[in-house]
Amino acid sequence: MIQHPFLQSYISLATFSLTAVNVGTFPLGESDRIVTLFARERGLHRAVAKGARKPGTKLSGKSEPLNINRMLLAKGRSLDIITQCESVETFGSLRKDLQRLSYALYYAELTTTFGQGLSEDAARYFDRLSLSIGLMAESPREPALLCLEFEFALLEMLGIRPELDVCVACREPLTEQNLSSFNHDLGGFLCRPCYHLMRRRASENHHHDHGGESGTPSVAESAAIFDGHTFDKPVRRPVVEGVEPGYDRDTQLAVGNIARRREAIDGQRANVFVTPMVWKRLILSRTASELLNNGLTEESLLDSERGVQGKATQAARRIMQGYIEYKAGRRMRSLDLLANLPS
Ligand SMILES: [Zn+2]
Repeated sequence: MIQHPFLQSYISLATFSLTAVNVGTFPLGESDRIVTLFARERGLHRAVAKGARKPGTKLSGKSEPLNINRMLLAKGRSLDIITQCESVETFGSLRKDLQRLSYALYYAELTTTFGQGLSEDAARYFDRLSLSIGLMAESPREPALLCLEFEFALLEMLGIRPELDVCVACREPLTEQNLSSFNHDLGGFLCRPCYHLMRRRASENHHHDHGGESGTPSVAESAAIFDGHTFDKPVRRPVVEGVEPGYDRDTQLAVGNIARRREAIDGQRANVFVTPMVWKRLILSRTASELLNNGLTEESLLDSERGVQGKATQAARRIMQGYIEYKAGRRMRSLDLLANLPS
């Protein structure tokens, strides 16, 4: 390669500094690593960590996912190169708890998925992401609740936070009495009259298109009925919180995953039935998320969470993750490991 002396000195001047969370890595060549960063100064950014895959080198530990570093980068032709790196935070206690680590890696996965849309709000998102990873590492609160609050913060910054207060079709205020189902397409809840209206229309279309409903449902159809269903298919049984009697937990999770993946891939409209308890859990998490944004400490939240039902929290999380995956058009993988662990 011919290197012009002027160009060389120009390149050496083109350095800049970033404070960033590592949100992903993949190998490059024999011993290097490409690190995906979310930087406070410029959002999602990729850089090369030279020699990071050789054990014992300075960059090998620092380039691990979830670490926060302050670094100096040299502008490269395609990828920038990390030339200096100083550790700001390593979240040591996260690495000792598989559940909490998985949730934090899920934050990283969400960041690589949606980070492009957050570059204008990079500083605010960086601060919230670092706060949330820190809470996942240190907070005495339930990891699933912390996760719900982070999901609300992310969706709020992306401008796609789900509507919890009024019906997304008719704008009537939602109550425990009229609450029906969560609709991924419309990004919120339908009241019962609107749900029944849409269901009737979908069923008429179906009869018109296919000459009526017949036979037993296919696996995919059963899965859809189990975990929510599409308006395009006839509704055979209602589903409550994705839990159907007669199935064991593993089957429920497996079938639920198939249904979410299928919905995400097909981009079909999906409806998930929600109980008032789960709806209230979502509202409380949204509030907690806003309070954390405004610098609230966690003690008051801990008090309000005594007696919170784990089942409702898990159901609320499934709805949020399903909605996020629907918006992303793909499944998030970081929490799959937890779903398969015995509880
Ligand atoms: Zn309505």
